[in-house]
Amino acid sequence: MTDPAKPSLTPEDLAARVENRKSLTNRQRGQLPKIYWKEQEPAERIRNTREVPLPYTPAEARAEAVRCLSCKNEPCVTGCPVSVDVPGFLRLVAEGDFRGAIRLIKETNLLPAICGRVCPQESQCQENCMVAKVHKDLGFAVSVGKIEAFLADWEREEGGVELPPVGDPTGKRVAIIGAGPSGLACAGDLRRLGHKTVVFEAFHKAGGVLVYGIPEFRLPKDIVEAEVDNLRRMGVEFEFDTVVGQTLTIDDLFDDGFDAVYVATGAGLPYFVNIPGEDLNGVYSANEYLTRANLMGAYRFPQEDTPVLRRENVAVLGGGNVAMDAARTALRLGAKNVFLVYRRSRDEMPARLEEVHHAEQEGVQFRMLSAPVAILPTESGWVRALKIQTCELGEPDEKGRRRPIPIEGAYEELSVEIVIEAIGNGPNPLIPKTTAGLTTTRHGTLVVDEATMMTTRKGVFAGGDIVAGASTVILAMGHGRKAAAAIGAYLRPEDTRPSR
Ligand code: FAD
Repeated sequence: MTDPAKPSLTPEDLAARVENRKSLTNRQRGQLPKIYWKEQEPAERIRNTREVPLPYTPAEARAEAVRCLSCKNEPCVTGCPVSVDVPGFLRLVAEGDFRGAIRLIKETNLLPAICGRVCPQESQCQENCMVAKVHKDLGFAVSVGKIEAFLADWEREEGGVELPPVGDPTGKRVAIIGAGPSGLACAGDLRRLGHKTVVFEAFHKAGGVLVYGIPEFRLPKDIVEAEVDNLRRMGVEFEFDTVVGQTLTIDDLFDDGFDAVYVATGAGLPYFVNIPGEDLNGVYSANEYLTRANLMGAYRFPQEDTPVLRRENVAVLGGGNVAMDAARTALRLGAKNVFLVYRRSRDEMPARLEEVHHAEQEGVQFRMLSAPVAILPTESGWVRALKIQTCELGEPDEKGRRRPIPIEGAYEELSVEIVIEAIGNGPNPLIPKTTAGLTTTRHGTLVVDEATMMTTRKGVFAGGDIVAGASTVILAMGHGRKAAAAIGAYLRPEDTRPSR
């Protein structure tokens, strides 16, 4: 991010840092200024859907990578759910070996352009970065995500994208249900093991939340498409517009000769606050709002078929990534006032720091410690206002977050025409309902053996949000990789090749 207090270095400074890197002590490395990336200006970017951060240049990426201390205990690797060799690829970047660096990442992560952009690095690899600890400020961590995204983009633009080798055909067939990050990660690893892999997807496109939820300005769709294409080149097959549980069932898949199934259907069922007025015109779940805007191209309505309501005043309920995405999308669809209504304080907001920062820069108005209590109607049944109640923070709940306690009589009305609810999602019950032998938790997630990701039905594995509840891209991918290794062992117990 651009930090005016820390002007970017000149090309000569960047080159000198890279040139002198070998003579630097760890102490000196730890003190090197961070290389900030540039971003589209807020006033300009809310009028377009282009990506907000601009990529590092090769010189910037190399100079930033020099800051890595190559810690022996690799705390950044421990923080990554798919164990990307962070110090290894940063060393190669600092040396200018971009090809080697991206090859190393792809040993464990086949979706680097995506993860570099959307992983919550501040609570994963970058959280444990020793450089941040030296500065006692998380913001100073080496920019692992930005360098990862740079590498993936560099490789795509240079051409000659390298893919991991596909294993010799085993004659086994695996069906994957859901083309989100979990299904895609599982599919890639299964091809490396030589199994035929078919992904069944309800929508007409692969990517899951990456295409229907996360907006273009955070994750350009052509990047997702390029990473999905890499999987196609590895032999992963896709069957779109197929809702398993409706079009066909898991039993049908076994009857068709599949030897194992991986369920990665995510958590796409929106929760609602359950307050009066949720049936009014102008109330959306964030899922519907974002799917219309992103996947169905409502930005371009009427050139595209699907519309989405555009109004000047919008309230978004929630404090996670989904809420930030909905709020920032509303601005880009022409809203003048977007209120983000959250029951707790800023410290408890689960969204990625970068998204909070961007939303604030763009003018989203944060109404913290505010609980929605009713959506108020016009005479003709449209949204007129959102009634909120001020809260104060009480004792921590079971997750350690301080509970919001409504203050008696402290009500306020926000004049809005649209309310978007982004308070969380749960799993769709369709598959458990139509498949014998699957056990679910009280939250509706599938019960699996944590070591193998096998469900309570033999040969059916599951992972991603359908198991973890609404979680993160990289965790979903980690499940997919773990399941692929276990499916490999299940199908060919004699085959002990590791998937890495
Ligand atoms: P999904 O991505 O949900 O994919 C599931 C796929 O299965 C979908 O394509 C769906 O159409 C398909 N499907 C469902 N049911 C069926 C069926 N019966 N038959 C066939 N196909 C089916 N995480 C981050 O790490 N960083 C972020 O910045 C971030 N931002 C987010 C923003 C939004 C708006 C949302 C909604 C989530 C965000 N997340 C983020 C969370 C992250 O996207 C999810 O944790 C992740 O996508 C889960 O992956 P998955 O593969 O389990 O499921």
